[in-house]
Amino acid sequence: MSKQVPIAEGLFTWPAARPALLASRCKHCGVASFPAAESCMACSGQDVAIEELPGRGTLWTWTIQQFMPKTPYKSNETAQTFRPYGVGYVELPGGVRVEGRLTENDPQKLHIGMPMEVVFEPYRTEDNGDEVISFFFKPVN
Ligand SMILES: [Zn+2]
Repeated sequence: MSKQVPIAEGLFTWPAARPALLASRCKHCGVASFPAAESCMACSGQDVAIEELPGRGTLWTWTIQQFMPKTPYKSNETAQTFRPYGVGYVELPGGVRVEGRLTENDPQKLHIGMPMEVVFEPYRTEDNGDEVISFFFKPVN
């Protein structure tokens, strides 16, 4: 039977009723990192705590990926089926900027500072039928 698996361990809570992105926050200087790291990127402190990030933030910058990224880009897409997608940084409360794919790829519908929410959706299907779940940012209506 096929199942849903996260694209990477430790990136977000899964399975969960309300999945959340996971960051590490330095107990020394307070800087948070996403994805979570074992040491602080700001001060190299080793004392970090994992915390769930808020599900909403604002679009900090974005672009549209117009062509297939080079390998190891892993999706079910081919050069024929590839569709441009938005990618951007979303600034979350607590001072973390998270890079991720956007659910929107229409430049007319994206602008810096707009509210975004994180959603967890199938990204690709493995040969065994498992759905690989990743996170995306979606404009808040
Ligand atoms: Zn630190």
